[in-house]
Amino acid sequence: MSNQHDERTAAVASTSSTDVQSVQPFDGVFTQQEAIPEEAIESAIRVMRSGRLHRYNTLADEESEASLLEQEFADYLGVPHCLACASGGYAMQLALRAVELKPEEPVLTNAFTLSPVPGAIRAAGGQPVLVDSTRQLVIDLDALLEQIKKTGARILMLSHMRGHIVDMDQLQQITNAHQVLLIEDCAHTMGAHWNGKKCGTFGQIACFSTQTYKHINSGEGGLLTSRSPEIFASAVLHSGSYMLYSRNGTAPAEQYFENAKYQVPNCSGRMDNLRAAILRPQLLSLDANCQRWNDRYSVLAKELGKSTSIELPQRPEKEGFVASSLQFLIPGISAQGATRLLTELAELNVELKWFGNREPVGFTSHYSSWGYMESAELPATDAVLAELFDLRLPLTFSLEDCRQLGTIIAATVTRQ
Ligand SMILES: *Cc1c(COP(=O)(O)O)cnc(C)c1O
Repeated sequence: MSNQHDERTAAVASTSSTDVQSVQPFDGVFTQQEAIPEEAIESAIRVMRSGRLHRYNTLADEESEASLLEQEFADYLGVPHCLACASGGYAMQLALRAVELKPEEPVLTNAFTLSPVPGAIRAAGGQPVLVDSTRQLVIDLDALLEQIKKTGARILMLSHMRGHIVDMDQLQQITNAHQVLLIEDCAHTMGAHWNGKKCGTFGQIACFSTQTYKHINSGEGGLLTSRSPEIFASAVLHSGSYMLYSRNGTAPAEQYFENAKYQVPNCSGRMDNLRAAILRPQLLSLDANCQRWNDRYSVLAKELGKSTSIELPQRPEKEGFVASSLQFLIPGISAQGATRLLTELAELNVELKWFGNREPVGFTSHYSSWGYMESAELPATDAVLAELFDLRLPLTFSLEDCRQLGTIIAATVTRQ
């Protein structure tokens, strides 16, 4: 045990009650992702040595790293088209522009999501319409149906927030019956599936993020996928193809660009070859890493399950989730109690987030702080968020770290 570790333990023990003395502070660092694989680093160096970092800066007969990434990710997902772009949020903007979102047009989305989702809707000129989220942290299908009828919205931006997947069979029955176009936000579901069918293959378009905290890491980056050549051609042109669109790794035939190329504005937001080079080798270990996340989740969930004060969302049999984070509820906890819990856990080096906080903190924000959209009141969602806590599970945590983490949290919650 390091000296630093001893000192932290001593400090906590001296200021807290007796039962805390047995609780050791946590050793892991919640923001620490794994290193970029050596193969990816070598590939990035090759790109830098070539000087050809722009995705369309290729020699004759050369395929850019961006283009190869597009082909490989499309193959991974089993869809014909993929576009590499600047970020996950930007991919969502492209998706909305590609389906010709009108100014102020309503776009349905989950109330429990991350700020880039309503942000992308607004940036593309739309009006986010929030739909209640359930205690299982997915979109409430009855509320969805109600909002479709009330607003007449033709687009749903479905956020598989924190990797929680709604019953996609029931969801598709609703979207099909009401001709609602489905865009999937797969920022937390790269590698996940519903009943064996990959997330991102249900909607007309799917958007993925390769930002550091997601499932593959290029710092920033996004991937948009689609089966529709029309929608896809429009997305490529919007991303800023400088009329070199045929060099996209999965470009549809020229006919799909013929009219669109005179109509679509260039909203530059491409991915460069450096990022694509870093990502390609990571794709190869994606499925294995998904399993590693889930192994960590199982250990942590088992420990948390020992506390009767903690409620874990139920996960249906068909939900093939990837647990790069964990959420739990503490029924009946007050705002004051939640704040105290966060403080006590922070003293033990555990970085817990609370979605009930009305003040946006770090990556977490409550919908009431998104003041650019029409204000919404969603008491059912508020009741869930008030009791909802969140933890990252980076792969740098060992299984033993996860067990230790679970013990610390369960002990601290029980003491409240
Ligand atoms: C991270 C995230 C995004 C957007 O990703 P960026 O690449 O950071 O723009 C979208 N939706 C959810 C739910 C996210 O967590």
